[in-house]
Amino acid sequence: MRNALHVLTDELKRLKTAGVKTVPVPDETLAELRRAMHGQSGERRAESGKNERVTPEVETTAAPAGGIAPEIVAPEPPKAYSTLRAPSSAARAPSLPPPPVFTLPEGDKATRWAWLRDHVLGDPVCLAHARPGKKVVFGVGSIDAQIMFVGEAPGADEEVQGEPFVGPAGQLLTRMIQAMGLQRQQVYIGNIMNWRPELPTGADGRQYGNREPTEEEMGYCLPYLRAQIEVIAPTMLVALGSTASKGLLGMRAFKTLGEVRGRWHEYCGRPLMVTYHPSYLLRKETESKLGERRAKRAAWEDFLLVMQRAGLSISDKQRGYFLDK
Ligand code: URA
Repeated sequence: MRNALHVLTDELKRLKTAGVKTVPVPDETLAELRRAMHGQSGERRAESGKNERVTPEVETTAAPAGGIAPEIVAPEPPKAYSTLRAPSSAARAPSLPPPPVFTLPEGDKATRWAWLRDHVLGDPVCLAHARPGKKVVFGVGSIDAQIMFVGEAPGADEEVQGEPFVGPAGQLLTRMIQAMGLQRQQVYIGNIMNWRPELPTGADGRQYGNREPTEEEMGYCLPYLRAQIEVIAPTMLVALGSTASKGLLGMRAFKTLGEVRGRWHEYCGRPLMVTYHPSYLLRKETESKLGERRAKRAAWEDFLLVMQRAGLSISDKQRGYFLDK
């Protein structure tokens, strides 16, 4: 349901950007929407609203999941939902086989990593879910990395290049890694998902935006992330954003990222820091200077904790990034 609302939000935003002021919505769809947004029957109210129109205006929370689609501010919606044609069909993830079971080969790190990479890139389920002409995406970086960053899922740029975090969010992540005094090649960067989740289809039948992976999709790919952790054996993990954090800590481990961000947790017996997704920080850049600075400072404080734990030297200049002058 949440995914369906994300799809709807994206579509309304797109229409608004395109200059659309109103969107005619059938009565029964309005009723379903109201039920979803308010957790109560809106049917009676909708009955009186023939030809009602809704403006393409959406309210978003401060910390969208995974930095992709904004979260709609609404109580947990009820399960029943069906009549919004585009989102209902688009947001449903196809049913997947059980998560893969496999055994890593004996050998040194490089051998085991190369085997795992080949195995994932050749996984028929991953290949079947990658869009035509696009790539399955496996982790990159140093196999001796101390720090492993974990994102959510490949986006448009990543599915083309076959590498995690190469689009705008990835470029920001790379700059943050450099601000730590490291190079991108010195850390390891992976995603929970190895394919870009099937895109939501808009009312016009075209596909737009991104959507969060479902629990089932993440469950399928997680063994591959765990195997990368086993092979790389990083000293610590950093989860980027709400979806990645839910994938690692559990779907119901928290409601808002603020509950878990900036603190050490544990995953696969390794310390796990939870921080904002770089896409969220990018979105803040478009809102207000103050909001951007605060969000980036908060994320940077998480990175300082990671640097401290990793035994990296921290200069006064680094300590002061994004502090008010
Ligand atoms: N967002 C992610 O979570 N992962 C990527 O690889 C790119 C964007």
